[in-house]
Amino acid sequence: MSQPSFRAKQIYKWLHGSGSTSFDEMTNLSKDLREKLSDIYYISNCEIENKYVSQLDGTVKYLFRLFDNEYIESVIMKYKYGYTICVSSQVGCKMGCTFCASTLAGFKRNLTAGEIESQIHSAQKDLGIRISHVVMMGIGEPFDNYDNVLSFLENVNNENGLNISMRNITISTCGIVDRIYDLMEKNLQLTLTISLHAPNDEIRSKTMPVNKKYPVDTLLKACRDYAEKTGRRVSFEYTLIKGVNDSEENALELAEKLKGSLCHINLIPVNDVKERGNIRSSNETILKFSNVLKRNGINATIRRTLGADINASCGQLRHLKKRGDADENSC
Ligand code: SAH
Repeated sequence: MSQPSFRAKQIYKWLHGSGSTSFDEMTNLSKDLREKLSDIYYISNCEIENKYVSQLDGTVKYLFRLFDNEYIESVIMKYKYGYTICVSSQVGCKMGCTFCASTLAGFKRNLTAGEIESQIHSAQKDLGIRISHVVMMGIGEPFDNYDNVLSFLENVNNENGLNISMRNITISTCGIVDRIYDLMEKNLQLTLTISLHAPNDEIRSKTMPVNKKYPVDTLLKACRDYAEKTGRRVSFEYTLIKGVNDSEENALELAEKLKGSLCHINLIPVNDVKERGNIRSSNETILKFSNVLKRNGINATIRRTLGADINASCGQLRHLKKRGDADENSC
């Protein structure tokens, strides 16, 4: 557009720092330029279609509408150290894990880097807060939308953007090993989390189809390589489902497999997804499982459930096909 280069920086600050949703807000650009920009471009935005606030812990879930009338969900949680947002990376999911709601309505499309970021700006503006931590644990598989996710990370980390430190960002993957190696080469200071959920191929292949392509040993080797190269401890999520993966024998096998790795395990009591019918392990079983890990030198914590009354917990976010589908989420 034959503009001087400093204009790019000004626009970047409006888009990524302030989260502007209209060129009219960019008051340090001439009116003429603002008009030209809006003739050629649009700004991705997540419109708030619905908002649910947990009566139990104040967790907030948004149902966002995208420009093409697709819907995604995001969750904001308050911790002692600040606000964390759990963002979606895709509309729906292809991965087909048998315990997760995000995959039930199938896969529609990838989110753009702007749409991922816009979830943060929309929530910040609506709540009047500053979000300090980001977890990519909403709808979708971030490593199945790798390029856009990397652009998102770059922008969210940029000092002219939201300026969120890489150390405050977590990416969760069901285990797409090739992308783990790609990310390893970037040597970022973020936290990589693996949705493991089983100690062996027999159980994992039944619950997570991705395991057929990338079996447990291949995945764990990639995690060891990743930790060694980046110096960052890898986290594992392990959702406990009654009678499926929660025996002491399973815990022992898991501890054996992870022995000597720089890692941490988050145990998650399975959250209810009505179509799935999985049953949560008892508190006693969860404690026993955790103790076996600890006795064998593996760091483990049991994740506190947030947003349970608004279907905002891990694995409960879903790709809604139409607006009415959302109403059953109301509390
Ligand atoms: N696709 C990525 C990002 C989703 S993160 C991934 O698989 O990691 C959402 C986390 O919640 C994942 O660890 C997922 O396995 C877990 N999860 C899915 N369904 C769940 C359920 N019903 N209860 C508890 N955790 C669940």
